[in-house]
Amino acid sequence: MKTLQELTRKNIWSLAPYSCARNEFSGRNASVYLDANENPYNAPFNRYPDPLQLELKSKISAVKGVPAENIFLGNGSDEAIDLMYRCFTEPQTDNVVAIEPTYGMYRVCADINNVEYRTVCLEEGFQLNADKLLAATDEHTKLIWLCSPNNPTGNALNRDEINKIIAAFDGLVVIDEAYSDFSSQRPFRSELLSHPNIVILNTMSKAWGCAALRLGMAFASKDIIEILNKVKYPYNINLLAQQKALDILNDPYEIDKWVRLILQERSRVMEAFTLLPITKKIYPTDANFFLVEVTDAQSTYDYLVSKGIIVRNRNRVTMCGNCLRVTIGTKTENAELLAALRAL
Ligand SMILES: *Cc1c(COP(=O)(O)O)cnc(C)c1O
Repeated sequence: MKTLQELTRKNIWSLAPYSCARNEFSGRNASVYLDANENPYNAPFNRYPDPLQLELKSKISAVKGVPAENIFLGNGSDEAIDLMYRCFTEPQTDNVVAIEPTYGMYRVCADINNVEYRTVCLEEGFQLNADKLLAATDEHTKLIWLCSPNNPTGNALNRDEINKIIAAFDGLVVIDEAYSDFSSQRPFRSELLSHPNIVILNTMSKAWGCAALRLGMAFASKDIIEILNKVKYPYNINLLAQQKALDILNDPYEIDKWVRLILQERSRVMEAFTLLPITKKIYPTDANFFLVEVTDAQSTYDYLVSKGIIVRNRNRVTMCGNCLRVTIGTKTENAELLAALRAL
């Protein structure tokens, strides 16, 4: 691995971050706060929230088994994705390598940051070929984007191939594990501390049922987390989101229950799809959705829309011709989808 100084965008390495009013006295006792030009009325919303979200991180640390100092929290994973570019890539000079097909935000953020986005198609069965990915890198490649289980294909990527990339690449390997709660595979975050060059993304938007809160996580070495913290907006997670997230995390059994229900429903819905005349191929999945190839994705999509049911049409995505991505809903929602398709 190159040093973090070599990997970090030059102006970011030398950046003096904004100093929050509350940082300057930290550690000492105080009860009168006249330092931040806040309004003394309307507690608790009159006060700026904790810029480093320490209480929430300590809770997440217990649930995820990752030390708090190795956790970054963002306004959705999308903030962490964008920050990876803003911290580690030089616009118009550096490049990143990603699998194809995968989650669209990696490319959008590359485009916004004016960073070259190189893609390598997955193999048969949407599997990863480490050698091909590594062959697409050069001395200006700072990041490799992996997503496992992958969106929109649903499958987890081969662990040995991921390990090969981590071992051989001299930049940072981002592994987006947004769907790992639905997978039987061991998540890579459990190996975080043995690999200084990996960044794991998690989110509260899927298994944890909090897409509206906008809370994403990055797990990485303390040094990488410090760079991300330096560049993020000082108060990027608002008080309501921090409080609500704590509430949810205090009831982890509820989350487990949701995941179990969704997995049961996933088997049921996928089995029902095998019997539909429009189904050509159902791809195996480790996520709360599955990809299905049908005879005519556009017309099936349009038909479902006319019934008030929205799935994701992935027809235009590389390797996903005539594919629909179907999220697993409640029993009732899934039954509605299946009833509509049976009536086709
Ligand atoms: C849904 C999803 C996310 C979540 O993004 P948030 O900004 O946290 O809502 C991240 N990565 C992938 C691959 C996803 O599918």
